[in-house]
Amino acid sequence: MSDINLHTQICFIGLGSNLNEPISQVLTALDELASHPDISLIARSPLYRSAPVGPAGQPDYINAAAKVETLLTPLDLLEELQAIEQKHQRIREQHWGPRTLDLDLLLYGNITLDTEKLTIPHPYLTERNFVLRPLADLDEELSLPDGRKIIQCLADCPMGSLVQLSL
Ligand code: AMP
Repeated sequence: MSDINLHTQICFIGLGSNLNEPISQVLTALDELASHPDISLIARSPLYRSAPVGPAGQPDYINAAAKVETLLTPLDLLEELQAIEQKHQRIREQHWGPRTLDLDLLLYGNITLDTEKLTIPHPYLTERNFVLRPLADLDEELSLPDGRKIIQCLADCPMGSLVQLSL
């Protein structure tokens, strides 16, 4: 990884929100990626509405993926994504409000990384159709670093409820 700063890398970012006007959370986060000085937004997927994974009674999620280009290292890119997440938090009654935006670094070039702070590809990438579908929309030829095609992972993935929005 010593030359990682010398070349731009194509990266894929997953976006998700289920609180505080989630469509606008995701669209605003895409704008923030597009206007970031060290990140070029190449394309974004359509938005999807997905049923929540985990505890019942949560609102549906809005999901999307973004294809970006950057000179940032994987950890620096993660930090920038976390800074954008922080901007979307709301303080309510002196406590931090619920989390309104989740940004995941799904793929960073063709690298594989497994550290305490960062795992690439994102560990749940192949288990979630709301991540795989927007990735395949962005690049239907896209593969994981181990050579598996995203489109094949999608075919093998359990089909949770997923509705494409016209946004
Ligand atoms: P979560 O809020 O559940 O998305 O988890 C965020 C935590 O996951 C952060 O503390 C990150 O350090 C860690 N993490 C590990 N790998 C990734 C990744 N590929 N993308 C985003 N966060 C990651």
